Amino acid sequence: MKKRLVILGAGESGVGTAILGKAKGYDVFLSDFGKVKNHYKEILTAEEFTWEEEGHTEALILNADVVMKSPGIPDKAPIVQRLLEKGVPVISEIEFASQYTDATIVGITGSNGKTTTTMLTGFILEQAGINLGVAGNIGDSYAKMVAQKEIDTYVLEISSFQLDGIADFVPHIAVVLNVTPDHLDRYDYKFENYIASKFRIAMNQKETDYLIYDADDPVSVDWLNKHPVRSKLLPFSLTQEFENGAFIKDNNLVVQIDNNTFTMTTNNLALKGQHNKKNAMAASTVANLLNIRKATIRESLEGFQGVEHRLEQVLKINNVQYINDSKATNVNATFYALDSMNDPTVWIVGGVDKGNDYRDLYPLINEKVKAIICLGVDNQKLMSHFENMVDIIVETPSMTEAVKIAYKVAERGDNVLLSPACASFDLFENYEDRGRQFKAAVRNL
Ligand code: ADP
Repeated sequence: MKKRLVILGAGESGVGTAILGKAKGYDVFLSDFGKVKNHYKEILTAEEFTWEEEGHTEALILNADVVMKSPGIPDKAPIVQRLLEKGVPVISEIEFASQYTDATIVGITGSNGKTTTTMLTGFILEQAGINLGVAGNIGDSYAKMVAQKEIDTYVLEISSFQLDGIADFVPHIAVVLNVTPDHLDRYDYKFENYIASKFRIAMNQKETDYLIYDADDPVSVDWLNKHPVRSKLLPFSLTQEFENGAFIKDNNLVVQIDNNTFTMTTNNLALKGQHNKKNAMAASTVANLLNIRKATIRESLEGFQGVEHRLEQVLKINNVQYINDSKATNVNATFYALDSMNDPTVWIVGGVDKGNDYRDLYPLINEKVKAIICLGVDNQKLMSHFENMVDIIVETPSMTEAVKIAYKVAERGDNVLLSPACASFDLFENYEDRGRQFKAAVRNL
């Protein structure tokens, strides 16, 4: 009899898993508690899947042999609880799909920088002509790629939610970019649980595998001291040097592995900011491990255009640079955005506060920020934190108005930076919508 694969959530990872499951001979059923997007409905119909939306029919779910849960669904969801009580394995897309590929897997996780580093690593490997799949939280579903393509190397962006649902998944090269508090609502408000989740990326690695991590991040260092891994450690750092690892020396980015050395000047890195030096070190360490030619790595790091909504340079108007960093949905991301500003900055901040502690930002605000525009439905907390720190602070619930105020306040040579440090769903559909509205408002000035 066919094994039954039930998929909770019919989005990109759910539909991709369904396609792979069908190809591998499973009896597939998809169930979505919300409404399924039209785009996916069309695929489900074309592929003749059995599926439901706006509710979960327990009788059709609890009889599963295996369940793939989409990352947006918390373990606390009643249907997941019922499955776990019954002892049905509940796994993530990366776990399911990885059983069906022998490709080399590079897995990239961290609180911030995953998409940037995944795209940058993908860009280098693509320039090198590798038969490559870039997937995970970005673009096409990984499972769908595994079903439809023959790929030699995958670069996967992996969230902690995906890692919570692994059992045997093992990347040959794992990257943990950093760990700062985020998504704690999904981890019983215990930072420890979230850190543990991130480092699950290394749990099945062997001595022949690699773990690349930030040696400047006290959370990662402390965790690894207390929970040693089997894989070879390759640290990266802005301040320390290593026999094996990546570091900055005399304005050069250096990657050294078993006496093989790669260097390039940091002035030529296309992506600016200290955090992007870290992302570049991580990506070039991966590329060196995969024996990519040094010239190719260098040229790629010089030519990479960056990713939309991440410190994206929008326009220069009257010699004022407008920058879209809408993807900065937590304090740490905004920290690096402010840190990378070299000119006086009008800062647009706000949205849904996830329990933010803004104190880390104080020195940067004092040094770089000349005006603050609070953009959200409830700006109370921001106003009270920052009102004594800058001369100009205003609040508005409108992106158009925020940009107009910024335009009035900014002078030649200044930056206008949207880096909200908050989630977007009070005023916008998502961070992409927020970033696009910002860019549209700037273009309309
Ligand atoms: P993720 O996919 O992990 O959310 P992104 O690459 O989309 O990461 O970047 C999210 C935000 O974090 C952006 O505002 C970006 O400028 C910032 N950022 C990128 N890399 C880092 C890093 N290494 N450390 C801290 N912040 C970063």
